[in-house]
Order: sequence, then structure tokens, then C-alpha cells
Amino acid sequence: MTATRILVLNSGSSSVKYQLLDMRDNARLAVGLVERIGEETSRLKHTPLTGGGAESRELNGPIADHEAALKAVAEELAKDGLGLDSPELAAVGHRVVHGGLTFTKPTVIDDTVLAEIERLVPVAPLHNPANITGIKVAQALRPDLPQVAVFDTAFHTTMPESAARYAIDVQTADEHRIRRYGFHGTSHAYVSRETAKLLGKAPEEVNVIVLHLGNGASASAVKAGACVDTSMGLTPLEGLVMGTRSGDLDPAVIFHLARVAQMSVDEIDTLLNKKSGMVGLCGDNDMREITRRMGEGDEQARLAFDIYIHRLKKYIGAYSAVLGRVDAVAFTAGVGENAAAVREAAVAGLEELGLAVDADLNAVRGDEPRLISPEYARVAVAVVPTDEELEIATQTYALVNS
Ligand code: AMP
Repeated sequence: MTATRILVLNSGSSSVKYQLLDMRDNARLAVGLVERIGEETSRLKHTPLTGGGAESRELNGPIADHEAALKAVAEELAKDGLGLDSPELAAVGHRVVHGGLTFTKPTVIDDTVLAEIERLVPVAPLHNPANITGIKVAQALRPDLPQVAVFDTAFHTTMPESAARYAIDVQTADEHRIRRYGFHGTSHAYVSRETAKLLGKAPEEVNVIVLHLGNGASASAVKAGACVDTSMGLTPLEGLVMGTRSGDLDPAVIFHLARVAQMSVDEIDTLLNKKSGMVGLCGDNDMREITRRMGEGDEQARLAFDIYIHRLKKYIGAYSAVLGRVDAVAFTAGVGENAAAVREAAVAGLEELGLAVDADLNAVRGDEPRLISPEYARVAVAVVPTDEELEIATQTYALVNS
């Protein structure tokens, strides 16, 4: 029996998201989520997708750690005949947030690779430790199975030094590995390729600006299939206005908060990562709620939206200049795929850049990649649903079969 199934694991500090896919037809066999690991109120939600129905099962109650979480997931999968002991399981694909400059491609995990992912913890203190835990637990459950790391940063390793370096002292930067790495790479890779497909072209033939607008948000400039710039930097804090992150600001704001507001480094970190962005500006980070409030004439929500759009426009303009020629702008992730008002406002007034949105096409909802620009527009504007799990599974399967 050939092994064609891939288990994709996305381990966070207190959660594990998973999907089991069959790579013969990219079908999802099961999806699920364990949240609030380590708390009394942990929850496992498991949805088997075989046999027509999609009845979810929920387990509520304490799940002590990632090991207990993965064991519970394995038990749920086994109930549907999809157990991790199945010979059909080819590999586990792990989302790993930070691969530094070392990992430019998906990589089969051995002790050396794991040690290198650990070495990168100082540049990804919130993410890599959880990813490492997920890997170790999965290794313990199936020691014989290939475990593959797919890095959020890998797609961006093609950025030229001119885009990747900050203008700070080179020695200090090198000593502390301070440079722009970029994130959401699996999404930018997948969406830029799907956009080329939508245009009927090969990725090498097109230049695309990808706008990944979820709770976290980033833009990338993709030239002939390779990333040449992206808005996130050393960490996912730089760039666009996000749900709870500030994105770009004058670095002197940090000195000011420390010296004048007497805030500690940790307090500033929390302020900028968790209490800023749309939440800081208007108290809400859900674009549905923000646009609803705007409809009622809420000035605070309107200003937050305007700041969000202003930043987005600046990046569209900057990446048009970086790319020289733009064939498509692709909107993706929760906001990009669903918020027609954001797409319309982001492109409004950019006719000189060849950009326009057709109101009727923009209003259409759907799960398929689609064009929303009028026929006359020089640059295609598209909505391209992202699928990071499928991308991780595809890269993992390709690697174990190479
Ligand atoms: P993600 O991080 O990609 O899951 O995106 C989550 C975000 O997408 C939420 O915080 C919302 O702001 C936004 N979102 C999801 N659904 C909608 C919708 N129907 N309309 C507008 N925004 C949405």
C-alpha cells in the first residue's frame, strides 16, 4: 500500500491545529483544533470529513500539555479509521515559524535540524518553542515516520540584501542576526502561484503583490515566482496595521515609552503586539464588527479603518515601485477574502497604477480564486483564498517522495 496521507500540525503555545490530507486528490480526511492546552477549560474539536458527513465531536476538560493533546487527537483520528499507526500515513508536516537564513526549503527533521530550530528561538521566542514541542511529541508517537518542517520564513529567503537588511550597524546586525525575515511564507507562496494559475500563466511569467490580510497581516512583492520584498521583518510586528499589532512605527516611539512613560520592555512588547493595531485604535479587531460600526456612523471605527487602508495603499504603491511591472494584486486571508469594503477602499484612487475594482465582481462571495477587476484594468485584482495547510502538505509530500 502506498502511503499518501499527510498529517499537518500547527502547534502554538497553547493550541494545536491539525489536518489530515490524502495527497492523491488533496482531499481533507479530518480537521481539528485543540485549544487552551494546560488550562482547566481545554477543548478538542475534531471534524472527520470522510463518509459524506461533517459531524464535529468535542471534548471539553483539562488537557495538560501538548503530549496529552496529540494523544487525544490520535485517539479521535483512530475512531474514524484514520489512526496515526496507519501504513497510509506518509509523513507529518509541521508548520515552523522561524527558519532564519538556514532553512530555505522544507526539511526532513533530524537531531541537527531540531537543534538549529532551537538555536533560532531568540528570534522567535513566541513561536519556535511551541513548534519544537509539537515536533518532539509527534516524533515520540511515530518514531519511524518522516517529520518535515515547513518554514514560514522560507519563501522570503530569496529577498535581496537591499530589501532584507535594516540600515543599522552591520556588525551589530550580524552578531544578533537582525534582519528582515518575513512571515506567512507558505501563504504568500501558495497565493502567488494560484494567482498566476488564475491568469493562465506560469509563476515565472508574472509579478504579483500578495496582500495576506488576516488577524496578522503582511504584504509581499513576488517577482517571477520569487519573493523580492515583504512587509514583516525580524518579527511579525513590522508592516501593515493588524488586528492587535501596530505594524510600522518610528522606533523612537519605543525609547519614548521607556523613558517618558516608564514602561518596561515587556510592557512595550505587549502594547505593540497585543494591544495595538485595530484593537488599540477602536477596541475591535474583527473587520466585520468594525465595518458594522462604521455603518452606524462610529467615528472611532472609521478612523481605524482609514488608518488600516492608508497603510495598505502605501505598501501597494511601494511594491509597485519595487516590482516595476505589476500583473496582479491578490487579496487573501480572513479580511482579504471576505471584506469587500477593504478591497474597494485599498484600490480606490490607484487608477494611475493600473488598479481598479468592479463593484459587482467585488461583491461576489465564494471559495474559488476569482478576478474582481474590470476588463479594461491594466493590473488584475484578484481574491485568492489561501490554504496554508494544503501548501504544507504539498511541500511535505513532495519532499518525502523525492
Ligand atoms: P485569519 O487570521 O486569516 O483567520 O483572519 C481573521 C480575521 O478575518 C478576523 O479577525 C476578521 O477581522 C476577518 N474576517 C473574517 N471573516 C470576515 C468577514 N466575513 N468579513 C470581514 N472580515 C472577516
